Amino acid sequence: MIKRLGFIIVLLIVCSEFLSAQTRRIINIPDIDGYKTLKCDLHMHTVFSDGTVWPTVRVEEAWKEGLDAISITDHIEYRPHSIDVVADHNRSYDLAKPLANQSDILLIKGTEITRSMPPGHLNALFITNANLLELEDVQAAIKEARDQGAFIMWNHPCWDAQQPDSVLWWKEHSYFFENDMLHGIEVYNWEFCPEAMDWANEKNLTMLGNSDVHGPMDVSDGHRPLTLVFAKNRSISGIKEALFNRRTAVYFDNIIAGRSEFLEPLFFESLEYSKTPLKLKNKESKVVNITNNSDVDYELELVQPGVGFDAPESITLKAHHVSALSLSGNSDEIADTGNLNVYYQVKNMLTGVDDKLVVTFTFRNN
Ligand SMILES: [Zn+2]
Ligand SMILES: [Zn+2]
Repeated sequence: MIKRLGFIIVLLIVCSEFLSAQTRRIINIPDIDGYKTLKCDLHMHTVFSDGTVWPTVRVEEAWKEGLDAISITDHIEYRPHSIDVVADHNRSYDLAKPLANQSDILLIKGTEITRSMPPGHLNALFITNANLLELEDVQAAIKEARDQGAFIMWNHPCWDAQQPDSVLWWKEHSYFFENDMLHGIEVYNWEFCPEAMDWANEKNLTMLGNSDVHGPMDVSDGHRPLTLVFAKNRSISGIKEALFNRRTAVYFDNIIAGRSEFLEPLFFESLEYSKTPLKLKNKESKVVNITNNSDVDYELELVQPGVGFDAPESITLKAHHVSALSLSGNSDEIADTGNLNVYYQVKNMLTGVDDKLVVTFTFRNN
């Protein structure tokens, strides 16, 4: 009996270890009006190209890290393990798909067209058959991807192995762009690429940020780089529609880069504060407690002084904390002012290489 009890205890320990290993993190980046904010990594590799993990590992990692969607984008033209891993170009997707279905990870069928510069490396997402993209002529390969309905993006334009001296947009990219064969660009891949951010803004390309992970994913320093996709619904077709309509932002480190039309609602949806009138008077101070429910520490810097009151020059709205914003009246007129507008720049929300999101807090006073 004692022996049996011991066995049961051992079994319980083993089971609880198994269960505790199967936890999924929650990434706290809010939805915005009309859209779900999906956390996506649309660029990664497995042993079926030059990665070192099996395709199902990519799904497990994504589930544990709280992602909604991934795309396994093994290289068409670079397969250093092909002596041992003999398979066609659809195989990594086919192997990952059952686990993705079971764990509710949206798996987008993709591949990486891998050429020297120009045009460099391009991911084709939402393809139907990767084998048909194995063509010598790169234009033919990209045209085939487009004919399959693919969303096509230029990967890591800042990669110094391909652009060591200056980061250039080549005539080949103009050709693809003008012929509906280039829709997006990686603003982040291992590092932030300022040129890519500029081109995305100038040419209205979709902005992406992905891990391009090859080995096992290591998120000990926080989170992997993500493309935030603002989708009408949580589905592969929802992501596709959003990507083609440029509704994305790029989340890396403690920074979100994107267009202000998405960054501004993302910022305010992260926050909660009382709407009760402050009734601020001259030579008095009032505190607004701002709760930040997101994972991002928002770093604010005052853009211009308030009219009739003072606000802090800078304040960090720390993730999952309440921050006290103190306002002090400095004129008699303040007592009769209906709303107090405070203008801050969010230093870690980039709308351009040198441009930060500017937000206006409107606090009721009377
Ligand atoms: Zn690449
Ligand atoms: Zn890659």
